[in-house]
Amino acid sequence: MRTQVAIIGAGPAGLFLSLLLQRAGIECVVLEMHTREHVQTRVRAGVLEHGTVQLMHELGVGERLKRLGLEHGGIELRFAGHGHRIDFRELTGGKCVTIYAQHEVIKDLVAARLAANQPLLFEVSDVRLADLESKSPRVHFVREGKSGTLQCDFIAGCDGFHGVCRPAIPSSALQLFDRAYPFGWLGILAQAPPSSQELIYAHHERGFALLSMRSPEISRLYLQCQPEENIENWPDERIWDELQKRLAASGWNLTEGPIIQRGVTGMRSFVTEPMQFGRLFLAGDAAHIVPPTGAKGLNLAVADVRVLAHALAEFYRSGSAEPLHRYSETCLRRVWKVQRFSWWMTSLLHRFADDNAFDQRRQLAELDYVTSSRAAAQSLAENYVGLPME
Ligand SMILES: Cc1cc2nc3c(=O)[nH]c(=O)nc-3n(C[C@H](O)[C@H](O)[C@H](O)COP(=O)(O)OP(=O)(O)OC[C@H]3O[C@@H](n4cnc5c(N)ncnc54)[C@H](O)[C@@H]3O)c2cc1C
Repeated sequence: MRTQVAIIGAGPAGLFLSLLLQRAGIECVVLEMHTREHVQTRVRAGVLEHGTVQLMHELGVGERLKRLGLEHGGIELRFAGHGHRIDFRELTGGKCVTIYAQHEVIKDLVAARLAANQPLLFEVSDVRLADLESKSPRVHFVREGKSGTLQCDFIAGCDGFHGVCRPAIPSSALQLFDRAYPFGWLGILAQAPPSSQELIYAHHERGFALLSMRSPEISRLYLQCQPEENIENWPDERIWDELQKRLAASGWNLTEGPIIQRGVTGMRSFVTEPMQFGRLFLAGDAAHIVPPTGAKGLNLAVADVRVLAHALAEFYRSGSAEPLHRYSETCLRRVWKVQRFSWWMTSLLHRFADDNAFDQRRQLAELDYVTSSRAAAQSLAENYVGLPME
């Protein structure tokens, strides 16, 4: 097999890239290790930045998003038992975010790719990359028990944090920046109408809590927990009891309901520099991880592949490899700003093991500042709805 761009991974990065390349008339093949069913039901992120929503409409995959997505013009920061709204529309000239689950995005992208009869191969195993520094790199893989080789001009490593693309780069060529947090998130999906129209980020002495939602019938809720928390220790009553305590505010009630999904997610900040080696370009979680507090993981993956698609289009249109050479540099400017924001939101809202009374007072003062200063609230709002795409 031969193609222009081999894309490893059918997550948000790989699938958005495939549609962007398709639109630019560039051939690509997507190789994914899991089944279609698996990638379309994997519960993950749910907040889409303004620019991500716009891109879905531009790519002609926004019909269900328009119908089912919930536009949010703000969030609530809740601390010391009171809620304070950050009004995105007012602070950012009319921008908002949209709640639409990542697996719904994936369904829309997969459907568009397959409807256009473009290659998207599921259940591919043993992916190995070769000749990355040549003009014709190769991807070896196994599918339906047969070995195959995909020859291409470029490889896009969109295979997430645990994929094979980043490890295919000699470690001496990479610099890794890493921060692990001393806590995780216990997340649930509950069959309960959301108790708020917008997300509530709660700072509490017992730890952080987040109220989010997937639809008018389904709530998504999170609790700060130990990084290696055993979910078995959290029966339904304990989860609801803790959520009730951390989210409590006078005159407000948290609606409970059957828990239909639960899990613990670790929290880390991670960046690979550079995000390219020879003809391999890393995008999304393969290159960086953010703690989910800023709701940025998926959106950052989309921002990367926009830059990559633009650079590849320029290469095939004019022969200029300049934008490709600058791919890392271009992406990393935005990546580090998003890292900063995600770290800041995390530090603002969570309890840390070595917190003392001073740290808690300082956090409360910062929350008070963010919710009472227009300049501070505007900074939060412009980051949350999404910094400009390159
Ligand atoms: C449990 C969980 C919860 C999350 N919750 C949130 C959240 O609430 N908010 C938020 O903003 N972000 C969240 N994130 C992060 C967000 O989902 C990711 O940032 C986003 O999925 C990144 O997209 P991606 O395409 O780069 O990587 P992925 O979505 O990881 O996609 C990579 C794809 O590559 C495939 N793959 C991997 N290895 C290979 C291989 N060797 N060969 C072929 N295919 C391969 C994988 O199966 C996968 O389909 C969460 C992540 C996880 C894991």
